Amino acid sequence: MTDAAVEFSDFRVAALAGGVGGAKLVRGLDSVLQPGKLTVIVNTGDDFVHFGLQICPDLDTVCYALAGLADPMKGWGRADETWQVFTSLAELDAPTWFQLGDKDLALHLERTRLLQSGWSLSALTRGFCDRWNIRSRVLPMCDEPFRTRVRTAEGKLLDFQEYFVRERCEPKVQEFVFAHAENIQAAPEVLPALLEADLVVLCPSNPWVSIDPILHLPGIREILQEKVVVAVSPIIQGKTIKGPAAKMFAELGIPPSSLSVLDHYADFLDGFVYDALDREVFQNYDAERIILYGTDTLMKTDEDKTRLAAEVLRFGQNLISRKAP
Ligand code: GDP
Repeated sequence: MTDAAVEFSDFRVAALAGGVGGAKLVRGLDSVLQPGKLTVIVNTGDDFVHFGLQICPDLDTVCYALAGLADPMKGWGRADETWQVFTSLAELDAPTWFQLGDKDLALHLERTRLLQSGWSLSALTRGFCDRWNIRSRVLPMCDEPFRTRVRTAEGKLLDFQEYFVRERCEPKVQEFVFAHAENIQAAPEVLPALLEADLVVLCPSNPWVSIDPILHLPGIREILQEKVVVAVSPIIQGKTIKGPAAKMFAELGIPPSSLSVLDHYADFLDGFVYDALDREVFQNYDAERIILYGTDTLMKTDEDKTRLAAEVLRFGQNLISRKAP
């Protein structure tokens, strides 16, 4: 057993995650927690159907990361991928705005077959995770379809992948639309996993389109208000490492900064992890209710992920002991 595994032996954690940023911290948490003690609740608002196949980008990014199958450079998709089908599709003039590798495609094919034979997304994801020997539990946030849409300043309503991949996040955002979210139930294991957790971690994922869809499901916010919750900022020095989160804050009239991320979650947050480069941002912050922790949050290597995960967990344990009567 590693030192970290001894340190966190009985600690139960639920993490809320999107894709690339979420998967990095989740990989660290998975490596320091005991098997079965981490539950990852993953955004499915980005899911869509393409060529008739059910595609779950964030779920796959998280699972590939935990299985050690992820492309280390891109942070999404599989390592050692080949592109035979995609190249042949291009030769047929088929749509190529969404890249589909051959190995990745196999997963979409099998997931679609299982869904069509009556499996739930939660159950088939568990099956894939078992097959890949993933030690943590990975849950889609819900089993029913949940569609995040983006209303642009020009008044167009775009499906998330149309905005994100096809339009390369270029249109100016006016609002995010989570139609009928209040009627969509969280997947069966999600609320119990949050209730059982000693600590809830919000990964450094996009607050608007990776974490907010999860928070919109009935019952989630109410539970978070009762739990010890720590968020890690996806914004460092006003910028994202990757993706449109900072651009979204700015287009919605909010300064893109780690402080704005904290404000976004303020109603249920107990602790906030910001990057040490943002120390000045919090210089005059009155940390009475939400406790701050500054550290290096950039995760380039597996060692970075493990180190940050262990720091986040120790910070969480501190908050729990402060909160204890
Ligand atoms: P997506 O669904 O693939 O866009 O992934 P997420 O929503 O999970 O992650 C996107 C966010 O991750 C962006 O806002 C990035 O700034 C953030 N991110 C990516 N890598 C890192 C990192 O190493 N450290 C921190 N703090 N944030 C990161």
